[in-house]
Amino acid sequence: MKSLLPLSHWLPGVNQGPMIIAGPCSAESEQQVLKAAQQLKQLTPIHLLRAGIWKPRTRPNSFEGMGEKALPWLKQAGEATGLKTATEVANARHVEAALKHGIDVLWIGARTTANPFSVQEIADALQGTDTPVMVKNPVNADLALWIGALERVANAGIRQLAAIHRGFSSFEKTAYRNLPMWKIPMELKREFPDLPVICDPSHIAGDRTLIYRVAQKAMDLGLEGLMIETHPTPDQAMSDAEQQVTPLQLSRILSELDLRSPQTESQGFAQELQGLRSQIDRLDRDLMETLSERMRVVGQIGACKIRHNVTALQVKRMDEIIQRQMQMADQLGLRPEYVEEIYHTIHEESVKRQTDMMREVHQAADEAC
Ligand code: PEP
Ligand code: MN
Repeated sequence: MKSLLPLSHWLPGVNQGPMIIAGPCSAESEQQVLKAAQQLKQLTPIHLLRAGIWKPRTRPNSFEGMGEKALPWLKQAGEATGLKTATEVANARHVEAALKHGIDVLWIGARTTANPFSVQEIADALQGTDTPVMVKNPVNADLALWIGALERVANAGIRQLAAIHRGFSSFEKTAYRNLPMWKIPMELKREFPDLPVICDPSHIAGDRTLIYRVAQKAMDLGLEGLMIETHPTPDQAMSDAEQQVTPLQLSRILSELDLRSPQTESQGFAQELQGLRSQIDRLDRDLMETLSERMRVVGQIGACKIRHNVTALQVKRMDEIIQRQMQMADQLGLRPEYVEEIYHTIHEESVKRQTDMMREVHQAADEAC
């Protein structure tokens, strides 16, 4: 993904602060889209008006969107309010129809991103157009699949490209509809620093009371925008009713957000940060030296086990170590689950070191035969 253009290139209004995308989950009627757009325009500054035209629904016989006839509703609502428009596309036919009706920005939904055939078909239909495209993460927590979809679109020559983080489906019962798993969008940002990543708190939360919290977290992490489903009468919405907010509620959510910038010119900040970062660098060096020293002793234990013909994995000992370290974590103000994860990794590597040593002994013995 090369020479991607910043959001401010495709939406000139975006210069400071997050890009805001709002509008109903689905376009339900000409009146409803227009009303959403007008209320938004009146109550809070947004950059892009969204509405779903074709809805991918889990079960048949639920509302599947109004289809192509709703495209002019979205376009006209955009024109009436001076807002650019965006909708979801799931195949080449959708791309052609949306572009024919002058929709400005397209996004690929989570279910579609999970299917490389569909993404390629969409990318082929986009070839030669200069359409801005946003790619939602796939429903499953697979970063490579997300990157693959972004690359397919980028390879079609699209340089106005962004990713949307909308959480990942899971069997785990949590307060969220889709688990945020923040480390996945963070990793995407680390790999592609020029790719704008936007958060969709509505689909992560699945519940309007949790939207503010998710949006604030996205801002604290430095994501570049928010897509929040907004409906004039959310409780009557034909899809995703529980997670939609009114334009007034959206304006409150946005005005309460604490916004941070990725950088600052402040000298004091730079000096303080430098001092603290050099402490971290020193501590990281100590950590590495301790890990290396620990591994040296693991090797000695390995040699001892080999001499006495004892297995590398000692389950009881592993359990003891993890339990003890989790207790210590609690006393030291660290999250026990965090320390548990670290110790599983440390222990796994220690056992690997010892089984590698055992393999070498077998090989040496084989060669001697
Ligand atoms: C939507 O934005 O309305 C939608 C269907 O989203 P997702 O693809 O994230 O489920
Ligand atoms: Mn929705």
